[in-house]
Amino acid sequence: MAIVIRPDGSDRYQPPPIAGDESGLDAAAREWIARAADLGRSRFAGRAARHDRDASFPHDNFADLRAAGLLGLAVPRAHGGLGAGFAAQALVTAEIARHCGSTALCLNMHLAACLWAGPVADGLDMSGAQRAEHEAHRAWHFQQIVQGGRLYAQPFSEGGAASAGRAPWGTRARRVDGGYRVSGRKIFASLAGAADAYGVLCTLERPGASLADALYLAVPADAAGVRVAGDWDPLGMRATASRSLELDDVFVPERARLLPEGLYAQAAQRFPHMNFTLASTYFGIAQAAYDFSVQYLRAELPGMVPVKRRMYPTKQVAVAQMRIRLEQTRALFVQTLHEARIDPDDDARQRLYAAHYSVMENAQAIGALALRTCGGQAMLKSLPLERLYRDARCGALMLPWTAELCLDRLGHECLYARAEHDEAID
Ligand SMILES: Cc1cc2nc3c(=O)[nH]c(=O)nc-3n(C[C@H](O)[C@H](O)[C@H](O)COP(=O)(O)OP(=O)(O)OC[C@H]3O[C@@H](n4cnc5c(N)ncnc54)[C@H](O)[C@@H]3O)c2cc1C
Repeated sequence: MAIVIRPDGSDRYQPPPIAGDESGLDAAAREWIARAADLGRSRFAGRAARHDRDASFPHDNFADLRAAGLLGLAVPRAHGGLGAGFAAQALVTAEIARHCGSTALCLNMHLAACLWAGPVADGLDMSGAQRAEHEAHRAWHFQQIVQGGRLYAQPFSEGGAASAGRAPWGTRARRVDGGYRVSGRKIFASLAGAADAYGVLCTLERPGASLADALYLAVPADAAGVRVAGDWDPLGMRATASRSLELDDVFVPERARLLPEGLYAQAAQRFPHMNFTLASTYFGIAQAAYDFSVQYLRAELPGMVPVKRRMYPTKQVAVAQMRIRLEQTRALFVQTLHEARIDPDDDARQRLYAAHYSVMENAQAIGALALRTCGGQAMLKSLPLERLYRDARCGALMLPWTAELCLDRLGHECLYARAEHDEAID
């Protein structure tokens, strides 16, 4: 079949905006997304294969994000940042994930630290003294980010029930003069060896310490006793460099608190949408797998043999199925971003689990469908689809809301009101 390509390229597939319809976004959000898209297309996409192959951290991408001012995306304007809201941050992350999933997931960890200390903290109940002290601490951290270009990681996971929110953190913080001494081990610490500070969750030592004693501390990467350990050679999301982090009696000063003592448990309970930030990366990967498939079937990928495959009805049906899944996912993703608030009602909380599950499971389903539809040549390492497929597989595994735990929580919360339980049957 003859290939007719207009010289001006106007008949080529144009990947759509990540939000679908952008009319609900303000001008600033659209500009940040465009800035991310530009970096993604012109720089990150071309580096992604190398970082994936070598499982190397994308320092070059973060230098670009820093230069573009995007490390300050989630820092409030009063502290010199861009002051992006929850939805805008998530859409910027998703846009970056279209070009490099690992960069997006790592950026998400950094943005989450800003969210906890910024707008989430603003919505929590604190005493006047706690508020004043928090204001001083976060001003210091935000200055590190905005003026110093520092990068924050979020290594919470420990490989036990704590990561699922069901037991106190095994990493311990002991109060000492002027701060704390922290000891413990974190696993899957994205940005290990690359971050300037690790936002670590630990348990403040006291008799009978419980989940309520979780403490959120920024541990400087260069503090004595901090060590990056183990290797990192996973299936997907290889450039996140998620090695282990060992903390051996590390001293951190008072200002290390990203939230006041006793406040993390309140924050996690009252702002469950924080976990949903992880979904942004995987939604972006799903969009990329769809974009790839359309371009591949239309023979529009650079360097590809110009053989179209779009005329086969089976391909058209498969692309329709991918598009339907993608649009179902986008609708729930975007709606859920706009529902993020402190103290969502039970209905919104249940929809949140449904949305998180849907994004994570649909991302891998779309990746698998893309591979099956495009066929053998599309899985070659010279093309990005096989990386997207592997990266997409990882989302549903991420704690605290793995796909399984979303089902557990959602099923229970649909059938039981809060604090409601069944009578014991003899
Ligand atoms: C690419 C990538 C990057 C990551 N980056 C970070 C990061 O930067 N920071 C961070 O903190 N974590 C990060 N994680 C870690 C992640 O969230 C998990 O902690 C990690 O995948 C380890 O999981 P595990 O298999 O050891 O979990 P396990 O606790 O062994 O769980 C295994 C499975 O059992 C089920 N399960 C676990 N607990 C329960 C329970 N109480 N009830 C019922 N079922 C349960 C879950 O479905 C889970 O998938 C990352 C993970 C990935 C894949």
